[in-house]
Amino acid sequence: MSVVTRFAPSPTGMLHIGGARTALFNYLFARRNGGRFLLRIEDTDRERSTQAATDAILDAMAWLGLTPDEAPVMQSAQAGRHADVAHEMIARGTAFKCYVTPEELQARRELGEEKRQASKQDGISDTERHALLAEASSLLAPFRSPYRDGGTPPTPDAPFTVRLRAPESGSRTVDDGVQGQVTIDASEIDDLVMLRADGTPTYMLAVVVDDHDMGVTHVIRGDDHLRNTFRQVPIYEAMGWDVPRFSHVPMIHGNDGAKLSKRHGALSTTVYRDMGYLPEGLKAYLLRLGWSHGDQEIFTDEEAIRVFDVSGINKAPARLDLDKLATVNAHFIRLADNDRLFDLLYPFLTTDGAIGDEEARRIRTALPHMKDRGSTLIELANAFDFLRAKRPLELNKNARKALSDEGKSRLKGLQDELHRMSQWSDASISETIKSYCAATGLSMGQIGPPLRAALTGGLPAPDLAPVMEWLGREETLARIDDQLAG
Ligand code: GLU
Repeated sequence: MSVVTRFAPSPTGMLHIGGARTALFNYLFARRNGGRFLLRIEDTDRERSTQAATDAILDAMAWLGLTPDEAPVMQSAQAGRHADVAHEMIARGTAFKCYVTPEELQARRELGEEKRQASKQDGISDTERHALLAEASSLLAPFRSPYRDGGTPPTPDAPFTVRLRAPESGSRTVDDGVQGQVTIDASEIDDLVMLRADGTPTYMLAVVVDDHDMGVTHVIRGDDHLRNTFRQVPIYEAMGWDVPRFSHVPMIHGNDGAKLSKRHGALSTTVYRDMGYLPEGLKAYLLRLGWSHGDQEIFTDEEAIRVFDVSGINKAPARLDLDKLATVNAHFIRLADNDRLFDLLYPFLTTDGAIGDEEARRIRTALPHMKDRGSTLIELANAFDFLRAKRPLELNKNARKALSDEGKSRLKGLQDELHRMSQWSDASISETIKSYCAATGLSMGQIGPPLRAALTGGLPAPDLAPVMEWLGREETLARIDDQLAG
């Protein structure tokens, strides 16, 4: 059997990071098993689905590199097929036409609620209370239609829904890849609506028909769908279709253990892009969030594809830990190819407008040596401020202190030596500084601070010799001249 997985988001908003993790698990499972990973946009809810949301989901998935193996299936385009299946089920006797109207159902629920409230009142006998509770629970129980076994329409042309004949009795078990054996009583399953009175399919029917038609063998999705599985399996059975292997993944929680919400951090996948996370960083973090393989913490895509399995998914909800995400991301920044990293960094360098060629040159040259200077692209972009500062540099308090008269006079001597240099490299600059110190009896601790102040204005920067190489001879000397002339 060739493995087929799918990710089936509803296009009603952004791609939630929980959804991104589900997509990743499906992607990795398909890759691991040499199968196919498919995408289905579940746009049956016409009121809440938007093209903008579909685009946002596709954009986020493309950013993460979770490219489906075939063009996305739009669920709404299959509506005719869904209706055909519902009618075939009527012919097979596994579904039926139901003439109960939504108003009647509503009235039934309200009556159930009234009885439930009434059972709580004081001054009634236990017998009355039990009777009320029994009535309430049967009215509020999963709906079993009076038309299950036939029955004539109230009027010849009365509108009808098509409902599944839910399993009669006994218990129903799903053998879930993550949750293990989950059993419920058949009475908990209702005669669910598959086609509405206007002939449109419901989600519960559409998802089953589409998964069957797409050849899906493994459904990995959020555990908020676990209960739906008990309503979906009977549809497969009614049609005589193979039931896929289900795995329901626990939700992501916040660091306090509560359901993930905005106050815990961003929910939208692409906001992590905007915050300067690399796609491989976010993916590696999401992978470990709820899945483990031995005690390995960080996986590249290739490693994950080699070892991913559903059995490694944890049963308990995982907690979002932004510090850990930053650590993982920092790791992938260090691993990133320099040219690609520059391109990824570019938008963060240009938030205040384009950068000139000379600035870009300096940053490109410095980048391979600066990769450990930020755990996000925003931090990394800021780490280049010292290369980008405009002359004459603004000095912070420490830099002003370092450029005291004494500091300046030390710098003056070095300036002359630097002017004389014929070759400009990290190594030759180090050599010049060392021999200047040796000749004057100054220590690095005496010359370093004024030099650093002149070159950076007090902005954080790494070792000075490479900084001077990256700035280039002209800019270095000009920055020093600015301070000595002043
Ligand atoms: N469209 C559903 C959702 O967004 C997913 C359904 C499924 O994976 O079966 O939650």
